[in-house]
Amino acid sequence: MSDLLTRAEYGALAANLNFPTGAFIDGSFRPALSGETFETVNPATGAVLAQIASCAAADVDFAVEKAREAFDDGRWTCLHPTARKEVLIRFAKLLTRNARELAVMESLDSGKTIYDCETVDIPETIHVIKWHAELIDKIYDQVAPSSDDHLALVVREPVGVVGLVLPWNFPALMLAWKIGPALAAGCSVVVKPSEETSLTALRIAELAYEAGVPRGVFNVVPGSGSEVGEPLGRHPDVDAVSFTGSTITGRRFLHYAADSNLKEVTLELGGKNPAIVLDDAENLDAVAAHVVNGAFWNMGENCSATSRLIVQKGVKDALLERVKAHAREWPVGDPLDPETRVGALVSQAHRDKVCSYLENAKADVLHLGGTADGMFVEPTVVEVGKDDRRAHEEIFGPILSVIEVASFEEAIAVANDTDYGLAASIFTANGKRALRGARMLRAGTVTVNSYGEGDISTPFGGYNTSGFGGRDNGVHAHDQYTQLKTIWVDLTDNADKALD
Ligand code: NAP
Ligand code: MG
Repeated sequence: MSDLLTRAEYGALAANLNFPTGAFIDGSFRPALSGETFETVNPATGAVLAQIASCAAADVDFAVEKAREAFDDGRWTCLHPTARKEVLIRFAKLLTRNARELAVMESLDSGKTIYDCETVDIPETIHVIKWHAELIDKIYDQVAPSSDDHLALVVREPVGVVGLVLPWNFPALMLAWKIGPALAAGCSVVVKPSEETSLTALRIAELAYEAGVPRGVFNVVPGSGSEVGEPLGRHPDVDAVSFTGSTITGRRFLHYAADSNLKEVTLELGGKNPAIVLDDAENLDAVAAHVVNGAFWNMGENCSATSRLIVQKGVKDALLERVKAHAREWPVGDPLDPETRVGALVSQAHRDKVCSYLENAKADVLHLGGTADGMFVEPTVVEVGKDDRRAHEEIFGPILSVIEVASFEEAIAVANDTDYGLAASIFTANGKRALRGARMLRAGTVTVNSYGEGDISTPFGGYNTSGFGGRDNGVHAHDQYTQLKTIWVDLTDNADKALD
């Protein structure tokens, strides 16, 4: 963990940052072909940070052409795996050298706290790149069982040119989750960051180039979903798309693929994640700390945020007292103040959506919060009925919906009463119940007696409408960016047969 600076020191760094503004294509920054730009703002202050190239279909075509050239001539994919590894390790080192600048840039562009950017987002981004780099020369292909007359090789080949479409909630880290395995596999990438948060992706692409990732291999095309995301999804020369974002947009990528070249599609989507706390949960204070972290970390703008607290009746009051006590220790406000734990929501539109879930909050059993001050929404704990929309819809803000249940069986049924299935947690001292619960919960990740997503070594993705087609993280992420080829070798002496 880096040593944090003071608010004044972060302010001085912020005032002197140089923001990248061009699309990064074929090794250099360039304006959009149309010359158009769009503003990126700091949601905490409303200040315009930069005018960024507003790209469109022609820029996507150009970036894909350059990515294809790079892939086809083998400048990256045909390097010895160890050489690719060394370039990516150098890239991780350059990121480390620029970590503070990236952390401040990320905080300014997204409203995330500098505390999280310095201690989680940027260090994790670097760790992810390094982890996949180190894997490159340690993965083996397979030889299938066969008779001595044949040799059957099953080899993995990079899928080709990959479109990576990103959300705004972890701009650098979600980029790393995708470029780490994609570049390790030898693919060329065209990245479309969220319009709200393009800055760190552009700077990270520049640093990758500086580290030796050849031109054309790592391109970033900023712009809107309709102008850049859709043309990328429909492009006939893009071999695969890996998308993280909302379920509604994710579905579109399946249509784009079906209507174009049947490109591979992997979707990491939303969640409505439950934390189950049973009567026999041990150390309620620690449970409460996990629940608060799960619900309010990153302002709840987290696909795997704890959004529902499903609590057994006998422990509810005692737990809620502790949840409130912990939540009060999360200061809301200026993201550049290193004491702040809850920063600004990402945009006015998103803030308005989140605040719509606070309407009538006073009429509910409101345990904490319930108000907003501009872009800053207080951590809110509200008790809701099983049919309330706050028990079912993804809020993506710092609002925790509490649902009381009578038994373990009811808790599991309520937890599974969702169209989503990204993450879940269960708190109980009964080991058998914990493991049975973990099996019964329909979610891609289940944590027991804690809140979390595993780490880079474990696959991450969703059941139901929370995901499609593959997993991020772990060795498993490489499946997204590689395809299998069978090479069948006939070892018999066929010379005579061929003449027959
Ligand atoms: P979003 O609105 O779906 O946007 C995601 C990306 O898709 C953005 O780059 C967006 O561009 C682009 N896009 C929008 N409309 C498009 C279209 N018609 N065609 C092609 N691309 C289009 O999601 P978000 O609001 O940025 O992110 C929040 C969502 O992401 C939440 O639902 C959250 O749960 C999910 N999420 C999931 C994970 C996971 O790993 N499962 C991780 C983080 C977030 P513009 O916004 O620039 O227009
Ligand atoms: Mg911004």
